[in-house]
Amino acid sequence: MNIHEYQAKRLLKEFGAPISEGRAVYKASEAEAAAKELPGPLYVVKAQIHAGGRGKGKFKESQAGEGGGVRLAKSTSQAAQYAKEMLGATLVTKQTGDEGKQVNTIYIENGSDIETELYLSALVDRANGQVAFIVSTEGGMNIEEVAEETPEKIVTVHVDPATGCMPHHARAVAAALDLDGAAAKQCGKLIPLLYKAFTEKDMSLLEINPLIVTKGGDLLVLDAKMGFDPNALFRHQNILEMRDKSEEDPMELKASEFDLSYVKLDGNIGCMVNGAGLAMSTMDIIKHYGAEPANFLDVGGGATKEKVTEAFKIITTDPAVKGILVNIFGGIMRCDVIAEGIVAAVKEVGLDDPLVVRLEGTNVEKGKEILSNSGLKITAADDLEDAAQKVVKAVQG
Ligand code: GDP
Ligand code: MG
Repeated sequence: MNIHEYQAKRLLKEFGAPISEGRAVYKASEAEAAAKELPGPLYVVKAQIHAGGRGKGKFKESQAGEGGGVRLAKSTSQAAQYAKEMLGATLVTKQTGDEGKQVNTIYIENGSDIETELYLSALVDRANGQVAFIVSTEGGMNIEEVAEETPEKIVTVHVDPATGCMPHHARAVAAALDLDGAAAKQCGKLIPLLYKAFTEKDMSLLEINPLIVTKGGDLLVLDAKMGFDPNALFRHQNILEMRDKSEEDPMELKASEFDLSYVKLDGNIGCMVNGAGLAMSTMDIIKHYGAEPANFLDVGGGATKEKVTEAFKIITTDPAVKGILVNIFGGIMRCDVIAEGIVAAVKEVGLDDPLVVRLEGTNVEKGKEILSNSGLKITAADDLEDAAQKVVKAVQG
C-alpha cells in the first residue's frame, strides 16, 4: 500500500527528518489561506497522486494551465491560482499510463533554494534479507536512467539487522553523496532515523528523490514516496487510515474486498486459478503458447462459492479480456464449489468470451457435471497444456 507525499512527509517529520512546512488542501477555496500560513516568499504547489514524475508531467485539460504537477509560486495568490488549476484535473506522468490520474489533493509547501539534488531510497533487499540504502549524487532525475547509463554513480549500503543502523552506515552514505560540513553531520542523524522509520512502520519502499542540499548548506527531504508491506498493515491502524482508495485500480480494490489476490496485467486472457504457484505457471504457459494473461488471480485455498463468483465477475467485467481460462487443482478447494461459483457468476453477468476449464482433484466429477448441466458454452480441457492451447487458439481466432 502506498501513501501520498504529504502523508509520507508528515510521518518522516514525526521521526525528526528535515522537512519544509506545508499544508494539504482539498478545495481551491482553502489554498490561499493555507499558503499564508507558510513563511514564504517561495511556495511549491504539488499535485498529490500515487505516481512519480509529476514535475515533468502534463495535464490533459487546458484549463489546468501551463506547467506540470509541481509548480513554483512567488506569491500566495499565485499558489492559490495553481492549486485551483490543478485540482480536479488529470495529470499524466511517465508512471500513470496514458489515462493519467485525477488530482484530488494539493500540497502547498514552503519553497527551498536548491544547491544540489541527491537521490536516496531504502528498500528490503530480499537476496540477503537486509534493508539497503541506495543513494546517488544524481538526484531529481529518473533513477532508472542513471542505473542504465552511469551505474557506477549508484551506491548501495546494506544494514545488517543484527547490528541495526550504525554510524558507519551513515558515514558511507554521506561519502557516497559527497557531503561535507553541516550536511554530512545532518546525514549522520538522517540515516538512522530513516532506518528507524522504515523498520518500525514496516515499509517496503522509501524513496526520497530529491534529497537536497539547500543554498544554506542544509539537508532537506524534498520529495517522498512510501510503500508499506500489506501483510504488516494490521499492526499500523494509523497508516491504514491514510489509504486513498481513489488511487487504486478499481478491480484490484474490489478483489481486495473479497480477499482475492488479483493483479491486473496487459494481456487478454483472464485467468482464475487456485494457488499462487499454479497461477504463475498458468501465466507462463499462456505466454509460452504466444498469448498474454490479462491478470493474475489466485482465489486461494478454501474459497467459498461467493468468493469464486466475485472472482469470475472481476474477470468477465474487464473489457480487455477476450477469453477465460479456469485452472483449478482441487485439494482443499473443491471442484464443485468452483463450478457452482462460475455458474452463479455467469447467471449474474452473462458470458460473451470463450471459456476453457481445466478441473482436477477433489470432487472433479461433480464439478464437471455441474458445468455440463449448466448449459453454458464451456470448452473442457484434459490438462494444463491442453487448456492453455485451447484458450490461446480461441482468443487468436
Ligand atoms: P516528482 O516530479 O513527482 O518527482 O516531484 P518532486 O517533488 O521530486 O519535484 C520535482 C522537481 O521540482 C524537483 O526535482 C525539484 O527540481 C523541483 N522542486 C520541488 N520542490 C522545490 C523547491 O522547494 N524549490 C525549488 N527550487 N525546486 C523544487
Ligand atoms: Mg521526485
